[in-house]
Amino acid sequence: MAIRVLDADTIQKIAAGEVVERPAAVAKELLENAIDAGSTQVLLALRGGGVSYLEVSDNGCGMSPEDALLAFERHATSKIREAADLEHVATLGFRGEALASIAAVSRVTLTTREPASLEGTRVRMAGGQLLGREITGCSPGTKVQVEDLFYNVPPRRRFLKSERAEGQAVMEIVIQQALAHPEVSFRAMPNGRLACQTPGRGDLREAVAGVLGVDVARQVLPLEAAGNGMEIQGYLGPPGMHRSTRRHQYIYINGRYIYHPRLAAVVEHGYATLIPSGRHPVFIIHLQLDPAAVDVNMHPNKLRVRLAEEEAVLATFRQTVARALAPRFPVPELRPPATRPAGQPQEEQSPEPRPAGGSRTSFPATWHETSPQQDLLDLLYAPPGPQNQAPAPGAAAGALPGLTPMGQLNALYILAAGLDGCLYIIDQHAAHERTRYEQLRAAAAPPWPAQELLVARPLTLPAGQAEALAGLQAELPRWGFQVEEVGPHTWWLRAIPTGMTVEEGAALLQDLVEVWTGEIAYDDRLEAGHKLVACRGAVKAGQKLELEEMAALLQQLASTPRPYTCPHGRPAVVRITPAWLERQFGR
Ligand code: ADP
Ligand code: MG
Repeated sequence: MAIRVLDADTIQKIAAGEVVERPAAVAKELLENAIDAGSTQVLLALRGGGVSYLEVSDNGCGMSPEDALLAFERHATSKIREAADLEHVATLGFRGEALASIAAVSRVTLTTREPASLEGTRVRMAGGQLLGREITGCSPGTKVQVEDLFYNVPPRRRFLKSERAEGQAVMEIVIQQALAHPEVSFRAMPNGRLACQTPGRGDLREAVAGVLGVDVARQVLPLEAAGNGMEIQGYLGPPGMHRSTRRHQYIYINGRYIYHPRLAAVVEHGYATLIPSGRHPVFIIHLQLDPAAVDVNMHPNKLRVRLAEEEAVLATFRQTVARALAPRFPVPELRPPATRPAGQPQEEQSPEPRPAGGSRTSFPATWHETSPQQDLLDLLYAPPGPQNQAPAPGAAAGALPGLTPMGQLNALYILAAGLDGCLYIIDQHAAHERTRYEQLRAAAAPPWPAQELLVARPLTLPAGQAEALAGLQAELPRWGFQVEEVGPHTWWLRAIPTGMTVEEGAALLQDLVEVWTGEIAYDDRLEAGHKLVACRGAVKAGQKLELEEMAALLQQLASTPRPYTCPHGRPAVVRITPAWLERQFGR
C-alpha cells in the first residue's frame, strides 16, 4: 500500500492555520501558547504521528491553579455540549480557544506551575469533561499532553493519514516555529529520539542549522533590505540547493508564518534559469511591515493576509532577491564539506558521542544534559576544510558492436558510424543515464559499485528527513551508499556510488531522502531513486571523453533495452540515414 505523506502545500496551510484538523494543527497551537508564555525553551514530543501522543512543555510563565482550569473552560461551557458539536469543533479548528477545543476531542493532561509558586497544578480532561484537578510537584512552566486525538470523533480519525505523514507534518510545524523564533530553543523528539534542536541564541542562521541542518545553514545567502516602510531579512539557499517540493520555503510577516503563494512565487522567480525547472529553492524570509498595512482579517480564520500596497511589496521582494543572488552567477558553487575542529574524532575512527558537559564552554547551559548544540555550532562555524575529491571514474575500453565512435561534438554529443551506414548522434549524458538506469533496474540484489570515502563526510539533515533516512537505510547499498548514524540528524557518509565527487554524492543522498519523504508509493520511490542515481552518476554534458570512453559507453548502450531515450523521456540517440544525407547534398 502506498504510504501517503501530506503534501507541502497542505503542511504550509496547516502552519498558516488554514488546515486545522490534524495533529500538526494541535502542535501549532500548543507551540504558540508556549511562545506566548515567554518561554526560552520548548520541547515537543510525539508518538504515533502525534495522534496517540503529543506533548509540548515549556519553561514559560505557567498558570495559577485557577487559570489552569479557566484555560479549558470558556469553550467547554458554551459550545461543546453535544457529541454532534464535536465534528463541528474538529472542523472549525482549535484556534482562539485552542485548549478547550483540543480537550473536547482528546484526552489532555495539563501540568503547570508559576515560577514563584511552590507547587504546581495538574488538570485532566477527556472529551471536554473535567476528570480531575490536583496539586503536584513540577518544574516551572507548562506541559500539555494530548492523547488519543479524535478518539471520540471517529469521522475525523478516519480522515487522518499515516502516522508517518502526520508525524512529519508535526515536525514541519516545529521547523516553522523554530525559524520564526530564533530566540527560543526548540527541541523535537518524535518517537523518543531527538530529531532537532535549535540553540535559541536569537541567530536565525543558527536556527536554520538546528532544523534544516548545518549543511544548509553554511550555504545560505543573507538577504537584507529596508525602506518603503518595510524590512526584509532572511536567507536564500544558493541556486545549487534545490528541492523536489516547496516544503523548505518559509515566509514570515511580523513574526507570523504566512502562506502567501504570490510572495513565494516572486522569490522562486528570482531563481529562474538558475535551477532546473520543476525544482524549488530553499528560503527563510522575515518581512517586517507596518501592522496597519497587513490585513489579517481578510480571511475568516485570520490567516491569509492581504497586504496594502501588495504590488510594491512584491517589487521590493523581487529586487532584493535578485540582488542577493546576483553575485553568485553563474553558479553552482561547490562547497567543501563542514569539517570538525582539530582534536575531534575524524576520518576512519567512528566518533563516540561526547560525554555530557565535556568541552562545551561557549554554549550556555540548558535544561537537558546531552545537548548537541556545541557540536552544531562547531560545525556551523568551522572554517572550510580541504575539498574531498572522489577518485576519477574508471572507464573500461571495449569492442563496439554496431557503432564506432568517430569523435565528440561540443563535449555533448558522441558522433558514431553505424554498421547500417547511418550516422548516429548520441547525447552522452542521456545515454549514460539510460544505461545506468537499466543496470539499476536489472540488478536483483546488487551492491551498486561504491567508493569508500577516505574521509567520512558529515551529513546533517532537517528534522523530518532524518526520519526518512533511517527508513531508507535498507535501500542504500543498492545505490552504493553507506551511512552511519552518529547523533540526532547527523550521519557519516562513508561510501558513495562510483563516478561522483563527495559533494555530488551528498547532494544525491539528500535528493533520495527527499524522494523518500515524498507522497509516492514504495515502488515509485524505488523507481525515482534509480532515476536519480542514474542521472547523478552519469557522464555530464560538457565532459570531454576519450575515444575508448565513448566506445565503452556505446557498447553499454547497445546492450541496453530501450536505449533511445533517457529515463526522463528525452531522446538519447538521433539517427541520420544515408537517404537523408543524399537529399541534403542534392544527389
Ligand atoms: P488563547 O491562546 O487564544 O488565549 P488557548 O486556548 O490557546 O487560547 O489558551 C488559553 C489560555 O491558557 C491562554 O490565554 C493562556 O492564558 C493559557 N495558556 C495556554 N497555554 C499556556 C502555556 N503554555 N503557558 C502559560 N499559559 C498558557
Ligand atoms: Mg493559544
